[in-house]
Amino acid sequence: MTMRKADLLIRNVLIAENGPAFDIAIEAGKISAIGPQLKCEAITEHDGEGLFAFAGFVDSHIHLDKACILDRCTICEGTLAEAVRETSRAKEGFDEEDVYRRAARVVEKAIVSGTNRMRTFVEVDPRAGLRSFEAIKRIRRDYAFAIDIEICAFAQEGLTGEPDTLALLQAALRDGADLIGGCPYTDRDPVAHVRQVFDLAQVHGTAVDFHLDFDLDPDHTSLPAVIDETVARGYQGRVSIGHVTNLSAMAPERVLEIASLLGNAGVALTVLPVTDLFLTGRDADRLVPRGLAPAHLLARHGVTTSVATNNVLNPFTPFGDVSLMRMANLYANVAQLSRREDIEAVFGMVGARAAALMRQPHGLATGAPADIVLLDCEGPVDAVRTVGKAVRGWKDGKQTFENGRPRLLRP
Ligand SMILES: [Zn+2]
Repeated sequence: MTMRKADLLIRNVLIAENGPAFDIAIEAGKISAIGPQLKCEAITEHDGEGLFAFAGFVDSHIHLDKACILDRCTICEGTLAEAVRETSRAKEGFDEEDVYRRAARVVEKAIVSGTNRMRTFVEVDPRAGLRSFEAIKRIRRDYAFAIDIEICAFAQEGLTGEPDTLALLQAALRDGADLIGGCPYTDRDPVAHVRQVFDLAQVHGTAVDFHLDFDLDPDHTSLPAVIDETVARGYQGRVSIGHVTNLSAMAPERVLEIASLLGNAGVALTVLPVTDLFLTGRDADRLVPRGLAPAHLLARHGVTTSVATNNVLNPFTPFGDVSLMRMANLYANVAQLSRREDIEAVFGMVGARAAALMRQPHGLATGAPADIVLLDCEGPVDAVRTVGKAVRGWKDGKQTFENGRPRLLRP
């Protein structure tokens, strides 16, 4: 029998919670074998030190274009309206280099935190023109060695009352945007907004992603419009919605009804914990509502759900380290989860489930791209509970970051 050959052999990693130690062989950028104690002749061997290996974090919803702008914004009320207003004003001053520099900072932090895929929204409208879009296209190209970035051309500030935005979205979709994003709650005609976004998506053959129902009013919703259009146009599996914070204000029975509507229509949902927690419930002076859609309940009933970063250091969220591990922990904590299966599901919401939302494969398997991240923990549940630190990672078999493991220096 000839000895198996490999470019790289990562020895001694866990691939399941407290599972046995496995080795991963990599050849030509793909995983060529996974198993215990592989007999293999590799050009490079790497000791995985018993760390947990998985396919990397997937950020299904982030805004690179408006990250890191606290230096030019004021936050007095901490409301959604103020965030949109302040960002709109700042956006007029964005130039391509400025957007590139801020986005690069965020993407580099994401990579060293173990993220190797993301969907970024980029606002294209008369205020931003296509400047942010051009910068983010350069980011996508320059960081492709470490992360796959999907660009969602986004109408943050309305569409039906602003024909120029429509033309700019079309230009972006013709020139490299991967999909289109809408925001019915800022449009004077939310239903027409939903239709226009779907029209554009159909013409260009792309998926759609909406910012939706970002308040705590259970009776005010654009969900029926999104679900109706999804089904009418045969768009099942290509639609996602973010926030939907008013689900947190509904009775559990109603949430389950909506779960079955979303599941049947193939509409996926993303929770953005840091922004939802920061902006909602501002009229409460005590017992401030959490305002988080119960993604774990929806997931139990067949809805594809993810947890994502959304905003970093801007009026929507004046915090952020771009760590999806921290985000998963924050969600699980605020949602008061304790059962292993719920916590494991949350790990999926920043990994495999988030990839499913983006219709991308994810997982360590023979023949899959060698996209591998090692976390300092015993598996998915331990990762969420302890905020497992990303130690090092590879994309297509090439190492892309190294954080090292913390070491105690005894006297
Ligand atoms: Zn967003």
